Amino acid sequence: MAGGVHGADALAPLTAVVLDALRAGAVRRGGPLPGGGPEGVEERFGALEVLPRHGVGAETALRELVELVAEGAADPADPACAAHLHCPPLAVAAAADLAASALNPSMDSWDQAPAATTVERAVTAELARLVYRRGPGSPGPDALITSGGTESNLLGLLLAREEARAAGGRTLRVVCGATAHHSVRRAAWLLGLPEPVAVECPGGRLDPEAVRGALAALPAGAAALVVATAGTTDEGLIDPLPALADAAAAHRARLHVDAAYGGPLLFSERLAPRLAGVERADSVTCDLHKLGWQPVAAGVLAVADARYLAPLRLTADYLNADDDTEAGLPDLLGRSLRTSRRPDALKIAATLRALGRDGMAALVERCVATAEELAARIDAHPGLRRRPGGTGISTVLFRPTAADRLPPEQGDALVAEVRRRLLQEGRAVLGRARAEDGERGGARLWLKATLLHPHTRAADFAGLLDLAAEPVTPVLPAPRTTARTDGGTV
Ligand SMILES: *Cc1c(COP(=O)(O)O)cnc(C)c1O
Repeated sequence: MAGGVHGADALAPLTAVVLDALRAGAVRRGGPLPGGGPEGVEERFGALEVLPRHGVGAETALRELVELVAEGAADPADPACAAHLHCPPLAVAAAADLAASALNPSMDSWDQAPAATTVERAVTAELARLVYRRGPGSPGPDALITSGGTESNLLGLLLAREEARAAGGRTLRVVCGATAHHSVRRAAWLLGLPEPVAVECPGGRLDPEAVRGALAALPAGAAALVVATAGTTDEGLIDPLPALADAAAAHRARLHVDAAYGGPLLFSERLAPRLAGVERADSVTCDLHKLGWQPVAAGVLAVADARYLAPLRLTADYLNADDDTEAGLPDLLGRSLRTSRRPDALKIAATLRALGRDGMAALVERCVATAEELAARIDAHPGLRRRPGGTGISTVLFRPTAADRLPPEQGDALVAEVRRRLLQEGRAVLGRARAEDGERGGARLWLKATLLHPHTRAADFAGLLDLAAEPVTPVLPAPRTTARTDGGTV
């Protein structure tokens, strides 16, 4: 067993095996991801049986499997692994997560997680204060730990729906940008709400005037929730929050800000002004497994007023009987949609305490600065062109100039092929994003570099930029006439 007085003794030799396997796997991979694509990875897995008749023992199983996943990992600790909002976790957070696994507090009742409850309380209070810098006398903000932006956005919509129900059973209509995260649409679907009104985003940001128009066009009697994004997934762009808060207020709509990506800018005094207006939101999504260097999962939903969380309250006699709650046992069930859940607050607390606000700010600022330096390098590269306009938080879009010399469809196919070739060869993990091409007009496919590694420098990307500019032959997509499983054709 991993817990108890002897737990550490049982873990020590196995932890040593795991650390050796991590080292060996990383050395054998020798780059940001394994070469050979999906077939290569499958082949390395070979005939390894996951459920043999007779077990192979802990050390062997760990050595085999950890080495395999380490060798076959897309490792965000490598500068050339920069496709997604997929961060390299800090060692302090990963180490704290080992303790979380060993102790296994379950955050659905105090009697399964006494001290972890206190840690979670302290973390959520601190993060709520980070988002809502309120003066005394204002309603008290609060925050919940979630599994990530998807769950936080779901909760944001759910709480707004419940508020609308309480106010005379009104239907909630969601108004968001066309660039809003897909989880917003999915949350509306899951909650039985009408399809969100997706407002066009010229230049990638929500236009407050267009939002006012969309709100005015809603059916009379509908309640409305405006969802703004602080750090779009594709470009890291921040919607104009103060003007959107004004627009929402003018129509008595609620405001949810999806700051899954951008929220941690608040750690930095220098960058926090980019999020000015976020404190006017009723609820705010923030992920710490993006710009926060936590292992997944480390999501947060902050709310302006703790009372807004009341609809989540729930009693299950075996977890939070009324008399237990009255006798002073903290009630955790109303702090999540989940029941059993990991003490993700522990790794967050260890990180925040280890680094402090200044340490977190320094890491965020370095990612932002590196993205700007990378943008300058791309501008100076003869074989590459950056998407016109400024860089998002720490995201840079660019494409080979060779793609510009082809007709649009072939140019896009070339961009896609560059990305796939780098993946196949195990040389780089770049993302892809479709976005407008400034004055040239039209949406184009771009390569996307998302910089979440605070210890890399723009110079570390020199080789990657040359790779992206290497000539390739575009492979045009096959005509899209394949039958879909639902009977329609694509
Ligand atoms: C990543 C992201 C999400 C989803 O978050 P998960 O943690 O992956 O569930 C939501 N919104 C935005 C803007 C994101 O970037």
